[in-house]
Amino acid sequence: MRNVLITGASRGIGAAAARLFAENGDRVFLNYCHSEKNVQALCQELTDKGYSVFSIRADVSDPQAVRRMFGILREDSIDIDVLVNNAGIAQTKLFTDLTDEDWDKMIAVNLSSAFYCCRAALPSMIRKHSGRIINISSVWGQIGGSCEVHYSAAKAGMIGLTKALAMEEGLSGITVNCIAPGVIQTDMLSPYNDEELQALRNETPTGTLGTPSDVAHAIYFLASPASSFITGQVLGVNGGLC
Ligand code: NAP
Repeated sequence: MRNVLITGASRGIGAAAARLFAENGDRVFLNYCHSEKNVQALCQELTDKGYSVFSIRADVSDPQAVRRMFGILREDSIDIDVLVNNAGIAQTKLFTDLTDEDWDKMIAVNLSSAFYCCRAALPSMIRKHSGRIINISSVWGQIGGSCEVHYSAAKAGMIGLTKALAMEEGLSGITVNCIAPGVIQTDMLSPYNDEELQALRNETPTGTLGTPSDVAHAIYFLASPASSFITGQVLGVNGGLC
């Protein structure tokens, strides 16, 4: 049974991925920060069905909290086989209005978190000569989003991290890939009104928004044996928006 750690698994894409891995027989650790009720309800539902799931709280933007989270796993002799760096926040703001705090928080949650988690997960992956890392970037990290410069920069950083780490870990039997979702129906879209959501649909060649399940299946594929020769790649799950 593989041990899968998904950051930001209390809601949206992370929760859908947790469900998919659990339903396919993996032991899943659902990291969360604030949404305790959500994560407990999901864990209860999956546990009741006989799946192996555990919630684990950590603010992944905090290096000490990430160390503590991996320390807890190590105490139970758990080595992570599949790491999904999914936790993220969004903010829409004019570039000229961004504060130092806005910038630092965005980079910490959306990019530094992946550095902290990869650093903690890699030693056992290297020892076992096997492992999968899947980083969640964004289409805005590829093409840039107006009024989301800090978000776009963090997500572009995720792509650089993925490509460079894939180079470094190739001979260690570890693949590192990235998914760049387009517009996906989750709480992250809550600031948008109906008109704005329709405009986003119109911009997307399929004329639809994606679902958390669409992204979860791509994550699952990149963690599966079928993708063992794929590393350092960015997979767009975006309905053609690029
Ligand atoms: P979401 O529904 O808002 O969920 C965000 C998740 O991140 C929540 O589980 C949240 O947990 C967690 N999180 C936030 N800050 C955290 C922290 N400091 N430590 C640990 N967990 C934290 O968003 P989503 O749409 O599923 O987004 C998932 C990923 O996909 C993000 O990286 C996002 O940037 C990316 N993405 C989303 C879209 C989209 O259109 N939705 C498009 C492109 C990329 P708590 O609530 O427990 O804090």
